[in-house]
Amino acid sequence: MPHNREDSARIDLDSNGTRLSLSGRNGAVVALTAADGSRRVVPAAEAFTLQLLDGNGNPTRLASSDFAFAHDGTCLEWRHASGLRVRMEVTAADGEFRFRPSVWGIPAGMLLEWFDGPQICIASDRILYWPFWDGCEVTDFRKRRERYRPAEYSPRYVEAMTSLYPGFCQMQFLAAYRDGEGVYFSAVDDRHTPKGVDWEIMDDSTVRLSLQTFCGDLTDGAWRPAFHYSLRPYAGGWMEACEIYRDWIRTLPGFERPPARPEWMRDSPVNLIYPVRGEGLDHSPRDMKPNRYFPYVNAMPAVEKYGRLLDSRIMALVMHWEGTAPWAPPYVWPPLGGETELAKFRDALHGRGDLLGVYCSGTAWTQISCILPRYSLEQRFEDEHLGRHMMRGPKGEITAAICNHIDHGQRLGYDMCLAEEWPVQTIEEEVGKMARFGIDYCQFFDQNLGGGWLLCYAKHHSHPPIPGAWATDAMSALQRRLVASAGSRGMTLGCEAAAATPYVPNLFYNDSRPMIDMFYGRPVHGLAFVFHEWSCNFSGNQCGIFGCDPFWRWHYSFHNGDMLSLILGDNDGLVAAWCHPWSEEFPEQEALVSLVKRLNDFRKEYPSFLLEGRMIRPFARCESRPAQVGYAIWGAEGAVDTTEVLTSFWENAEGERIGFASNWRREPSDLTVTYPDGREETHRLAPLETIVLTSGEMP
Ligand SMILES: [Zn+2]
Repeated sequence: MPHNREDSARIDLDSNGTRLSLSGRNGAVVALTAADGSRRVVPAAEAFTLQLLDGNGNPTRLASSDFAFAHDGTCLEWRHASGLRVRMEVTAADGEFRFRPSVWGIPAGMLLEWFDGPQICIASDRILYWPFWDGCEVTDFRKRRERYRPAEYSPRYVEAMTSLYPGFCQMQFLAAYRDGEGVYFSAVDDRHTPKGVDWEIMDDSTVRLSLQTFCGDLTDGAWRPAFHYSLRPYAGGWMEACEIYRDWIRTLPGFERPPARPEWMRDSPVNLIYPVRGEGLDHSPRDMKPNRYFPYVNAMPAVEKYGRLLDSRIMALVMHWEGTAPWAPPYVWPPLGGETELAKFRDALHGRGDLLGVYCSGTAWTQISCILPRYSLEQRFEDEHLGRHMMRGPKGEITAAICNHIDHGQRLGYDMCLAEEWPVQTIEEEVGKMARFGIDYCQFFDQNLGGGWLLCYAKHHSHPPIPGAWATDAMSALQRRLVASAGSRGMTLGCEAAAATPYVPNLFYNDSRPMIDMFYGRPVHGLAFVFHEWSCNFSGNQCGIFGCDPFWRWHYSFHNGDMLSLILGDNDGLVAAWCHPWSEEFPEQEALVSLVKRLNDFRKEYPSFLLEGRMIRPFARCESRPAQVGYAIWGAEGAVDTTEVLTSFWENAEGERIGFASNWRREPSDLTVTYPDGREETHRLAPLETIVLTSGEMP
């Protein structure tokens, strides 16, 4: 049993030598002391914040200090003059502290929108693991350009994309550490209630970790979540934190065994990604004439060329093929030029043992295309009153969050509500056409980052007026329907960026986007570490990476356990990323192609690790010289710390372990490997060389 000690200023809970201290004045977390005596958090000013909405959708934000505080042991309670009550039951077990909140007495005419507590603050000299866009390590909190805002309904791209789980953030925990002294803060929420998983720089320069939770799931007018938040000290960095999360994942339905993968994944086909219209950047009105890869069969020489050079099956993964307009969802069918043209290409690919994949553009609704302005559904939208099926903000406002801008977007439109029947039926029909046609892979949920969707507050919809777990349930149900029908016809579905936790069992082959994390910190393999045994993604179209050493990126993808891709430009040649104008052909094509071949040969040789295996902590210490890699992504430029040699370590279902080490530079690099028994090896890696490291142990 935990020991509770109270004095006038503090409420202490002890467990296994670990102590949590709460303020006796307002219940805020003031200390978390590990068994070794080290402090893992700094005092927070507040126990929680929450937000109410009035009948017009106007917000009122309250903090714990706006309430009168009392406590009965470790059951904390706050009373507000309005009658609003908040309770937090805090318990301790096995060195972990659990917080279970409830909120009731919500004033008449008001809605409880979100609750953000307990509030956990760390010192700014910590490193933060943030499960954002496939895994980000934040080493300098000042690097973030925009100010923290709670997750909210927003037409503005950056604000809408930041932090929402399950979506842009794919896991519901944060971890902070330095010199192996870590703190792990998670929501143990098996219904995956939408949350902002984010962090905020406070006035005193400390950093607050936030699991801002939407409260649409009420019982008898009260918010009483069935889950708790967990806080614990741990030893290690991002990998050890991901292990804690992975141990919890194993207890969830859908993760009892890996998904049934299509046979072709075992052959590790390389994706050849390209548009059939335009020549690169596609924002705003521009010449979108069919390019050299249309009619579709015109791409066959490129498919054959790279199939031969890579000694690999190829998946032709096509963009801008939609017969409507490029990236003008939800309608994509029939394909540009008609089914017959695409069928010729499909049959030519399948005749060689290659595969056909397509990008789509997610669950938005297009009023007009900004790329091909003649494509308009405005009249139909009006005639059929389709606005009633669209997502709405708290004030009933209607907009869309992604790619939705006349100058630098692809379309103007809205986002469809996926808890409403009409959008679900529309999507099901569109996906059904592609599956029946014989497409092998459909990235239908491109622009639904992490396979998620955004926040709907529509009062006239059948769901509650505040986002809640109902929203995750709706997306999961839609995905299950699509996967059941498409899967029976052999079509695999995917999304942009790795799938968020609840969607991994449905979407297990997705377009990895770790480089976006360079905006905020450095990419680390967090998502792959947790989910690789269930989900093998691919190095995607590298959207918007205008500068960042391709050889570093392709090695990073290999060590992320991803399948590999090349992005086709003009003349059957390559560009370094999607959006690059085709006039900027990548100069070191031969080196890149032979690198992808060598890396893919490892994938084919070691599928039990690199397709189906689990990423593990290193079984040997690997040291190489520090290095930096520069980047330029959508107007942001800089460099992130890396090492001359990149490594990853894997375990297969038989318990065998293996490691890979790659020199991503075009000069030799030295690697020192020290095994637990003290044995030390030094390797000189040739430019772009990868070596295999064995554990030296029998399983
Ligand atoms: Zn809705």
